[in-house]
Amino acid sequence: KARNIAIYGKGGIGKSTTSSNLSAALSDLGLKVMQIGCDPKSDSTNNLRGGKSIPSVLDTLRSGKRIEISDIVYEGFNGVLCVEAGGPEPGVGCAGRGIITAIELLRQKNVFKEFKPDVVIYDVLGDVVCGGFSIPIREGVAEQVYTVASSDFMAIYAANNLFKGIRKYANNGGALFSGIIANSMNQPIQKEIINDFALQTKTTIAGFIPRSLDVTRSELRGQTVIEHAPESEQAELYRELARSILNNDKKYVPAPLESEKLKIWAESWSDILLREREQKGQVKHSI
Ligand code: ADP
Ligand code: SF4
Ligand code: MG
Repeated sequence: KARNIAIYGKGGIGKSTTSSNLSAALSDLGLKVMQIGCDPKSDSTNNLRGGKSIPSVLDTLRSGKRIEISDIVYEGFNGVLCVEAGGPEPGVGCAGRGIITAIELLRQKNVFKEFKPDVVIYDVLGDVVCGGFSIPIREGVAEQVYTVASSDFMAIYAANNLFKGIRKYANNGGALFSGIIANSMNQPIQKEIINDFALQTKTTIAGFIPRSLDVTRSELRGQTVIEHAPESEQAELYRELARSILNNDKKYVPAPLESEKLKIWAESWSDILLREREQKGQVKHSI
């Protein structure tokens, strides 16, 4: 049976970058991987396919023609199978519809039976509180949920909201949480913040990934770091993350902070950040 993983997180936080590097690293380990982009942006798999986007399931459906598996599943780097759910036309319709429709269609067309992937990664936009986006958590789509978060407070708010969603469906067969993927970790204090957030919410950290120019340079060539700079330290970190995710059987219900508590928590860290900046002499006076 496939290991079905959903990766959530705030827009722009690095879900697709992390997902595609994970997919590439897992395929290097000899596994059959399928990556399903569940963000209306539909660019989840671009770096597995030379920077070009594939037609989304919703776009293909809208074209009205008879759909073959080859119209929705495309092969990318090292045989990674790529799917983009797609979204509504800008400004109209339901943003969550793409995910629902895509998953239904993939099941209907027996895509999972045909390709028998060892790992399926759902790359899901997670700062939208919306029925559609919770589909991968509900209904036995994924069993394990990860979130990509940085030490940025908005990213942490989004992660905390995801924890609330997981807790809500946990008693009805929903997916459980397996860890935070801490992205853009360059300074010690950023790790301290995310470690403390994990402690407060009774969650675990699956890995730390720094912000790296190798990611940017690879992306400019439409590639993952695994493909473009396989010898780099960043590539090794993604491979390490891939191995630990593969070995991670942890599944639990997180303990999200209530809004007021989260606010107090964020304020106390912002005070620490301000003091640190003052000590470095970057600010002359504080408010
Ligand atoms: P999301 O899928 O969450 O919306 P993306 O994966 O598209 O976010 O990332 C947004 C931008 O941030 C991209 O340009 C990507 O290259 C950059 N990025 C993400 N993670 C890193 C990292 N660890 N180092 C450098 N750039 C990163
Ligand atoms: Fe669509 Fe429901 Fe999400 Fe609204 S809340 S965008 S109707 S899935
Ligand atoms: Mg994305």
